[in-house]
Amino acid sequence: MRRISVLTSGGDASGMNAAIRAVVRTSLDNAWEVFGVRRGYAGLIAGDFIALGARDVGGIIQLGGTMLGTGRCHEFETDDGRAQALRNLRQKEIDALIVIGGDGSQHGSCLLSQTGFPVVGIASTIDNDLYGSEITIGVDTALNIALESIDRLKVTASSHRRAFLVEVMGRDCGYLALMAGITGGAEVVVIPEVEVQPEQVAKELRGAYERGKAHAIAVVAEGARYNARALSAYFQEHQERLGFELRVTTLGHVQRGGAPGAFDRLLATRFGVAAVRQVETNECGVLVGLLKGKVAATPLMDVMSNRKALDSQLFEVSRILAQ
Ligand code: ADP
Repeated sequence: MRRISVLTSGGDASGMNAAIRAVVRTSLDNAWEVFGVRRGYAGLIAGDFIALGARDVGGIIQLGGTMLGTGRCHEFETDDGRAQALRNLRQKEIDALIVIGGDGSQHGSCLLSQTGFPVVGIASTIDNDLYGSEITIGVDTALNIALESIDRLKVTASSHRRAFLVEVMGRDCGYLALMAGITGGAEVVVIPEVEVQPEQVAKELRGAYERGKAHAIAVVAEGARYNARALSAYFQEHQERLGFELRVTTLGHVQRGGAPGAFDRLLATRFGVAAVRQVETNECGVLVGLLKGKVAATPLMDVMSNRKALDSQLFEVSRILAQ
């Protein structure tokens, strides 16, 4: 019999609950005991464990967020913080820890795993910036939420012949903005990876009307140098010369709150089952993700030392299809 622990860390992503449920029920099927850790690494340092049975994870697969809570914990970034977490895991006689989270969280899980403690990561972030997984838990749902807003804005934009700017999440990574731009039919996409000047945005939006379009929409990532705030200030300052107004919608945290769609529920379930299998076969120190369409494990060391680059061809696709 083994005792296994699971936590969610960093930014919440829709589908985390489905992953927790899969970890718990697969472990129970192995006749293992499962303990959830509340509030991510902060709970690990505080020793905040709760026993989880099959019924405790009932009715959560359809819920966004995470039943265990999540958070950011700077103490875990210190040697002392991680040593305390390790003491709690040992005191509770936990044999392995599963960490559901994004880039930062998996950095933490890698450091913990380097101490020799068995850790398995599950790729979960709406940013989709994690090396070792083509797509991560929460991306699809967040994208669909952004898309729904863009589709609606397009209706009103067409009626009034107005230019709209939609800002989506993505501090360092423009994946969500680029995919929302392509699938929402935006006229221009602004992402952190490619600097676009405000004059260029204005030119693309004006060009859309000149080509006979009834709407002009820009999708912008929050982390781009010219994000909603910067572009809005620029357009206000130059409104007379540019000859049109820009209406700004910032989606913000609304993108996180949705109920996970079928894709995220299934992905999270597959990841959760696979993470338990890694513990079962004593193949820890890895991140469970999706590679070439299959669930696969990548050493956490590789996850830490590599960055997933945005597919630059897709940026070109967004430009071509905006004609
Ligand atoms: P995400 O996992 O969504 O990328 P964060 O980057 O905020 O979210 O990271 C979540 C938590 O992971 C942090 O609050 C911290 O506890 C831990 N973490 C992040 N970076 C490191 C690091 N370099 N070393 C140790 N722990 C880290």
